Amino acid sequence: MKLPHHLTIKNSHLHINGQDCVALAEKYGTPLYVTSEDRICEQFRRYKTALSSRYPKVQVLYAAKANGNLSILRALAKLGAGADVFSSGELHCALDAGMAPEKLLFNGSSKSPADLRLAVEKGIKVSVDSLDELHHLDAAAKAAAKVVTIAFRVNPALEVPTHPKIATGLATSKFGIPYKEIPAAYSEALTSENVKPVGLHCHIGSQILDTEPFARAAEVMMRIAKELTEMGVALEFIDLGGGLGIPYHHDTDPAPTPEDYAAKVVPVFKAGIEACGITPELWVEPGRSLVADSTVLLTRVNSTKSAHKRFVNVDAGFNLLIRPAMYDAYHEVIVANKADAPLSTEYTVTGPICESGDILAPDRKLPQIAAGDLIAVLDAGAYGFAMSSQYNSRPRCPEVLIHGKQVALMRRGETIGDITAAMERPPWQR
Ligand SMILES: *Cc1c(COP(=O)(O)O)cnc(C)c1O
Repeated sequence: MKLPHHLTIKNSHLHINGQDCVALAEKYGTPLYVTSEDRICEQFRRYKTALSSRYPKVQVLYAAKANGNLSILRALAKLGAGADVFSSGELHCALDAGMAPEKLLFNGSSKSPADLRLAVEKGIKVSVDSLDELHHLDAAAKAAAKVVTIAFRVNPALEVPTHPKIATGLATSKFGIPYKEIPAAYSEALTSENVKPVGLHCHIGSQILDTEPFARAAEVMMRIAKELTEMGVALEFIDLGGGLGIPYHHDTDPAPTPEDYAAKVVPVFKAGIEACGITPELWVEPGRSLVADSTVLLTRVNSTKSAHKRFVNVDAGFNLLIRPAMYDAYHEVIVANKADAPLSTEYTVTGPICESGDILAPDRKLPQIAAGDLIAVLDAGAYGFAMSSQYNSRPRCPEVLIHGKQVALMRRGETIGDITAAMERPPWQR
């Protein structure tokens, strides 16, 4: 199996960033998320370089929902990243991690009054998702005697080749304002005293393995930019969103790189702004493609069983990695303590959750497996821990971060006490 360069096999053991996964699992216990900070930084720099070598005014905003650990946000903040935040919680975390407020964009199709007040108070740009929201935001800014800078989220009505649950730019999607109604939305915003429309934003979906749809979305955006410029909107940034996919099937998926993305999209952007006679910033919002392959989920084999199929029962399930159950997502798995043994036997890797859908990896050719073996689920860095739960009253596992030769916890494992900590006893049960 093809492996990115931060994953290696030495003495039959899988290593991440030079650290033996078997030793990490012994030291920190399982299940365990292990992340290479160096890999995330490398991917960020690739985006930044690929884009800024073609157009100087670039901002890379990390989509914080992909993996919200403060240590990851901090590492990216140090490199100058901003963030796409989708909730007040993500906004607080991005600021805590040291990201500059002017590099944040508050997205979301259903922001609460408290969300809008927070954006106004902190001076965060807002991607407005509806005219109704525009009115609420204008009122919130007025009440605080402030002016809030905004973009509108455009629905470009594009079909994209990805799982329907992660296609966000379809005409039928819940996100954004239909592109034909965008000029009217800006006209209205131009007359509002407390909002200043300076941006244009779209995000067409996730895990897109072809760069063509991004170019098509950029074309739609540049046409709208022309119309808005003619109306007198002074566009300061155009945000083309995130969505670049990663090769979860290591040997067969196409693997478009940030360079491929930039080579495809920046020329469309540049032609568009030249036609408008403007030089706005180009913003992008990658999530998955920055963090997905940085992380492995290590999980111990509790038992094996030959029944309808050969099952390998491990200690991590959809409580920790829901993507296979939710999107039928594929993740490569490697037996970390037998990483170069022949793939002799077909197994289905199943978690400990009380649901028949709790399958991490169906029908995989793996080495002969016995209880106590260690399985590494690859590419678990995006929408992995971030979507975890305490279902079945299982404490969430720890997360470890590696930087150079240094290894440290970036989140301790939860305890049963953490599960019950927020529960209250009603008075009649006292
Ligand atoms: C989720 C999201 C992203 C990131 O998507 P990826 O597929 O992880 O790159 C970017 N922008 C917005 C608005 C999003 O909702």
